[in-house]
Amino acid sequence: MSATDQPGTDPAAATSTETASLALPTEVVKIASTALGEASTAPREPVNEWLELGSSGIHGRGGFARCAIPAGTSIIEYLGERVAKEESNRRCVEGNPYIFTINDEWDIDGDVAWNPARFLNHSCGPNCEAQQEGDRIWLVSLRDIEPGEELTFNYGYDIGEWRDYPCGCGAPNCLGFIVAEEFHEQVRLELTREIAATPTPDPGASNVSTHANPHC
Ligand SMILES: [Zn+2]
Repeated sequence: MSATDQPGTDPAAATSTETASLALPTEVVKIASTALGEASTAPREPVNEWLELGSSGIHGRGGFARCAIPAGTSIIEYLGERVAKEESNRRCVEGNPYIFTINDEWDIDGDVAWNPARFLNHSCGPNCEAQQEGDRIWLVSLRDIEPGEELTFNYGYDIGEWRDYPCGCGAPNCLGFIVAEEFHEQVRLELTREIAATPTPDPGASNVSTHANPHC
């Protein structure tokens, strides 16, 4: 075992808190489903004072509030293996969806048994967010959360191949795809344009142009 195996701390890491994003897995993996309402009656598994794991109506296992959680609570740290960027990129290509980008040199691969936070599902209307503090990632509540609520955060995927990552989170504002909130408007615009460009099958539909281009 060499000293380079030790994670240590990054002296260059930022000390301020900022929103963190999961790296986009290049290989498409099944991370979301539309199988809403499939929650089982299996007992939930406590993780810490705030969080327990159980069957999710969004996808597979999920994280749930054990009690009322005030806004701004650091609920759980997103743990993982510290990996250099080259190895991290290789794992993303293989479809690993649990990798958090930390900086230009290294990432955190949360695909380890000792990272219960990996079970938290994505939502387009999340009640938590991933925050980076220096070289660590925490999942923090965005608002007051009721006991029993499923804990979710926006995975923060890059715009990239957004069509490959459908979302069935069930949020009233669900975009239909897993992508960082900053890209929601862009995706909505593209979807709206596609719908507008699709010929209507209704033979009685009016074809009057309503655009306001003064040159036409
Ligand atoms: Zn959604």
